[in-house]
Amino acid sequence: MDKILRIDMGAEGGPKVSETGLGEYAGMGGRALTSAIVSKEVPPLCHPLGAENKLVIAPGLLSGTTGAMSGRLSVGCKSPLTGGIKEANSGGQASQVLARLGYAAIVLEGKPQTEDLYKLVINSEGVKISVDNSLKLLPNYDLVEKIKGEFGDKVACISIGPAGEMKMSAASVACTDMEMRPARHAGRGGVGAVMGAKGVKVIVLDDTGMKMRSPKDPEAFKEANKRFVEGLRNHPVTGKGLPAYGTNVLTNIINEAGGYPTYNFKQGRYDDAHLISGETQAETEKARGGLATHGCHRGCVIRCSGIYHDKDGHYLTKQPEYETVWAHGGNCGICDLDSIARLDFLDDNYGLDTIEMGATIGVAMEAGLIKFGDAEGAIRLMHEVGKGTPLGRILGNGAAVTGKVFGVERVPVVKGQALPAYDPRAVQGVGVTYATSPMGADHTAGYAVTANILKVGGDVNPLKSEGQIELSRNLQIATAAVDATGMCLFIAFALLDQPDTFQALLDMLNAFHGLNMTGDDVTALGKKILSMERDFNARAGFTAQQDRLPRFFKTEKLAPHNVTFDVKDEDLDQVFNW
Ligand code: SF4
Repeated sequence: MDKILRIDMGAEGGPKVSETGLGEYAGMGGRALTSAIVSKEVPPLCHPLGAENKLVIAPGLLSGTTGAMSGRLSVGCKSPLTGGIKEANSGGQASQVLARLGYAAIVLEGKPQTEDLYKLVINSEGVKISVDNSLKLLPNYDLVEKIKGEFGDKVACISIGPAGEMKMSAASVACTDMEMRPARHAGRGGVGAVMGAKGVKVIVLDDTGMKMRSPKDPEAFKEANKRFVEGLRNHPVTGKGLPAYGTNVLTNIINEAGGYPTYNFKQGRYDDAHLISGETQAETEKARGGLATHGCHRGCVIRCSGIYHDKDGHYLTKQPEYETVWAHGGNCGICDLDSIARLDFLDDNYGLDTIEMGATIGVAMEAGLIKFGDAEGAIRLMHEVGKGTPLGRILGNGAAVTGKVFGVERVPVVKGQALPAYDPRAVQGVGVTYATSPMGADHTAGYAVTANILKVGGDVNPLKSEGQIELSRNLQIATAAVDATGMCLFIAFALLDQPDTFQALLDMLNAFHGLNMTGDDVTALGKKILSMERDFNARAGFTAQQDRLPRFFKTEKLAPHNVTFDVKDEDLDQVFNW
């Protein structure tokens, strides 16, 4: 993983490929690398869909190794949704395969001079780029079937659906999973629109003939990996809760805590939550011959995912995540798991962020386009997006645009990006993360649900402002560092509670790369990444005013606790003051 593949899509005479060494980016991977390249090479004031923006696709420092959990892929650019820097993260097979092919990053640059659509094939022999206009406007599942016909089912794909081609700000970048289904997405921030603007429909990755990346100290790496896996298996969340019920185990927990945003963030508890909970979902999956426990890439030992079948026992979609079930479910007053699964499939197939689309449909419901609870109406709206009708193009550009077009005051976005599945009034630590993350509202950027609700890594009262700044700060720093490794963020539950498991991860990094990193070095790495991202946003024109939640979270009380978001603005401004 010692080279960067650059493809200038706007070169005279067609796309031009070049390979460089890592140079000043040596030692970086995943989010550290995407944010470093975007921060250094992309003019912050450029148009996100223009020639000056770059789409950076980077595996993590441990991707492509035998290390467990190491298959996350970072996708970075200037975001069309937020106007700031973006790193969106995906599971699936692509990260491992790209790393084994020896690439620390693919950088798509420039702007094509024609309307042609390109297919990139990368294998041990190099890179082949061809025009393939037969792929135009193909949904992701149809696209991958076509690719399978051409290349077999052992390759991995990174692709966009029609939403990316239409350059919608809610468009995702899809990655295929172990069964070669395009069900894993770098969803947030409109990264798919940037890939669409580069004219690239699909990147086919074939690592035939390539070996696992080998550690500097194989014995020490193997031993540390063993301790790391044991730690994950021993922790109740990573060893039991997530494998049994997936991320949707959170529906009952967050609902019980009164932090489950319902009817476009009007109340914190949803009466019908039990109908769409992880427990109900797992039972349904098992009864229909799907799977309640499944990994999104080889080497995952937590296996929080699953396979969701329809009533007739046919594959419908992968197990929808908690945030998806919330976005299309409780947030829209929809309590039917089958409808939610169909919406999840449509998101994946058209290539859309499930959180942004669920929040957008919630705003459309608030505007009166359809009623809360109208599942068929929500599915109809999703098809409008996929077809690119004028209404669909509004919705496909996210909650902020939809709220503006239809005159809605209560629009749950920060920096233009929709809030996920935890109400910031009842989970105030995550509210601090939503407000201040350079990414816009993003629960994964500093998952304070840990100490606020789950009592993992500490215990901070979720309803009060005390302790939330420090909690979010520490988690944002740790998360940025984990996102550089290619490790799935869910390892954090075990890392926060079990110092031995954290040490095992450090030992893996050190044994693999021949380093002597300490916990302080990890903290320094996280701070460095966040500082680069904040600096980019500042140069893009962001000020403290963008580090705020929408006003209604301060003025409207949330039932059942009747709380407002209580953290003071001046305290929010201290999150990055370390
Ligand atoms: S824990 Fe879940 S999200 Fe993480 S790598 Fe495994 S299946 Fe994917």
